[in-house]
Amino acid sequence: MRIDVVTIFPEYLEPLNVSLVGKARARGLLDVRVHDLRDWAHDKHKTVDDTPYGGGPGMVMKPEPWGEALDAVRASGDGREPVLVVPTPSGRPFTQELAVELSQRPWLVFAPARYEGIDRRVIDEYAERWEVHEVSIGDYVLAGGEAAVLVITEAVARLLPGVLGNAESHRDDSFSPGAMADLLEGPVYTKPPVWRDRTIPEVLLSGHHGKIARWRRDQAFRRTCANRPDLVERCDPAALDQHDRAL
Ligand code: SAM
Repeated sequence: MRIDVVTIFPEYLEPLNVSLVGKARARGLLDVRVHDLRDWAHDKHKTVDDTPYGGGPGMVMKPEPWGEALDAVRASGDGREPVLVVPTPSGRPFTQELAVELSQRPWLVFAPARYEGIDRRVIDEYAERWEVHEVSIGDYVLAGGEAAVLVITEAVARLLPGVLGNAESHRDDSFSPGAMADLLEGPVYTKPPVWRDRTIPEVLLSGHHGKIARWRRDQAFRRTCANRPDLVERCDPAALDQHDRAL
């Protein structure tokens, strides 16, 4: 997969050099290219923002640098159209389902904004030619979209074939498609068996796979009820029955 990021803070994307994403890049599974939007601003001060039409506080990102930048990124490709991802608090909520969808695209271009956002005409212009997703990472407002790019890139990258050591690792994650799709993952434990007088649930030492799976499902259900009752309402009882019958 190829990922391009156009930003006025290229250094903000440095974390894409470390950990899982950094390793995926080093292994050639992910090609990440970060571009400075100001390279496409041509006045002496490399201006990328201006006052909003209609008045009001804050500044708006100008369309010309964004248009030139996105055209240049597109021209550096192999002729295919990329998918444009625009982080914005007014976008569609970013979910595991959307992460799976984006992980199946060969080329993502991120347009993280600053100030009050990007002139709307830029999104409308590219939506006529490219698949465009306006995406929010939560109901709060950040100063810029770069942190959202880091979040979305990491969630997408760990789904790419070969990126996780064990391909099964994300199968039981919270929000992963499957029998327990609408349940959060329950608690996890590792060695030693006793830590500060705290033991681990006995069932996990039983070696009985059916009982362990049933316990995990119960824990997942409890945690979901406590932390995300909205998900319990969405839960499909038939899928849970099917999961239990398989034990
Ligand atoms: N005035 C905008 C609004 O209320 O929708 C907020 C602009 S915010 C200060 C600047 C930029 O940060 C946004 O254009 C977007 O790129 C990014 N951003 C802020 N919060 C975000 C969120 N929850 N999800 C994704 N991107 C966000």
